Amino acid sequence: MTYSGFRVISEALRGQRGWKPVWRTPDPKPEYDIIIIGGGGHGLATAYNLAREHGLKNIAVLEKGYLGGGNVGRNTTIVRANYFLDGNSEFYSHSLKLWENMEQELNYNTMMSQRGILNLFHSDGQRDAFARRGNAMINQGDDAELLDQNGVRDLVPYLDFENTRFPIYGGLLHKRGGTARHDAVAWGYARGADRLGVDLIQNCEVTGIDIENGAVRGVQTTRGAICAKKIGMVVAGRSSQVAEMAGMRLPIESHVLQAFVTEGLKPVIDQVISFGMGHFYISQSDKGGLVFGGDLDFYASYAARGNLPMKEHVMEAGMTLMPMIGKAKVLRSWGGIMDMTPDGSPIIDRTDVQGLYINCGWCYGGFKAVPASGNVFAHLMATDTYHDAATKFRLDRFRTGRNLLDEEGTGSQHNLH
Ligand SMILES: Cc1cc2nc3c(=O)[nH]c(=O)nc-3n(C[C@H](O)[C@H](O)[C@H](O)COP(=O)(O)OP(=O)(O)OC[C@H]3O[C@@H](n4cnc5c(N)ncnc54)[C@H](O)[C@@H]3O)c2cc1C
Repeated sequence: MTYSGFRVISEALRGQRGWKPVWRTPDPKPEYDIIIIGGGGHGLATAYNLAREHGLKNIAVLEKGYLGGGNVGRNTTIVRANYFLDGNSEFYSHSLKLWENMEQELNYNTMMSQRGILNLFHSDGQRDAFARRGNAMINQGDDAELLDQNGVRDLVPYLDFENTRFPIYGGLLHKRGGTARHDAVAWGYARGADRLGVDLIQNCEVTGIDIENGAVRGVQTTRGAICAKKIGMVVAGRSSQVAEMAGMRLPIESHVLQAFVTEGLKPVIDQVISFGMGHFYISQSDKGGLVFGGDLDFYASYAARGNLPMKEHVMEAGMTLMPMIGKAKVLRSWGGIMDMTPDGSPIIDRTDVQGLYINCGWCYGGFKAVPASGNVFAHLMATDTYHDAATKFRLDRFRTGRNLLDEEGTGSQHNLH
């Protein structure tokens, strides 16, 4: 079933009776060539790419809950390619290019909206850092524009520029950045993978990984044992727990990140805006809600809900930046479990167990990475070689200390990235 404007109109005329379920609900087979653990954005994109780019068959995605119920459906939907360090820079650049073609490729409306991202700065030192970052983005082939205070005023006149503790000096504008509908990304990849024959198995929790003579043999699940020649662990906030099933201790801490949405309002915020003097960022959804978030809750936790002090911090930062937000009513808040690495950059690698691969460490920035992560991880699993856009996300950097990708420059402390 292909979606098109014609199809939407003809279904409207027929009482919407012709739509079919978007993916099948197969029972697990006793054996697959490849198993992907985790039906989030990265797992689904990996399975899709294995089938589409590498022509592989006999693949299953095992998801303990429902597809898209994890972080892929909980994030604040920001997509950008504004990284600084070699390694991150080319990867997120690759990802943004894939985003730009995603809707056509998947034949699915993911509501990709390149509305621009504006990172504000509030001191001369911060301006220098953003100028440097902007130059790195341009060198990578992406877009960046350094705005002075008047340039920012033209775009977002409703911010508090002067009567505030941290006056706005200017901003770095990344016009190709923006937002996409998070659930639709999961559903689009799920539909795409299913159409290529991938079995998407929900309510199937992996409870053990079978290893014999240093090689994977399969998994134990709540729906029985399933054999596999290759296994990809793509479980985001649960990475440490699943890796432990294979005897691995990962350099990951899991922390909660919260987000908030207000009641629907008329269009007021056109871009994504981030505050430079506290962790606060905001955009407006197509339904009208102001979607915003802030920093991690500082303690490690597997509870997908946050704490009141962080809520207070986020609201304060919002009020500092745009006092008008005080009139809006917050409708909902929620949390997701982030897989934080010590250097804030991801891991896409083989493991010491033959046939077992790992994809994790997305911290709070993994939504924008979904298309590239699926693309390069499938490449690694299919060919056993690293994709050019992801040569540096190696697990052993935490053992050797070499080639750490500390984008924030905050040192090896998980909750500061
Ligand atoms: C509040 C918030 C805001 C965010 N904002 C942004 C943003 O604006 N931009 C951005 O780029 N990123 C953002 N992120 C981060 C981004 O959402 C994550 O980095 C990314 O979604 C993680 O990858 P995933 O989609 O594969 O994870 P998930 O969707 O969490 O997928 C992992 C899946 O694995 C499953 N699983 C776990 N254990 C098992 C098991 N034993 N067996 C089977 N299945 C298992 C889980 O149920 C889950 O569905 C945000 C995250 C949060 C929480």
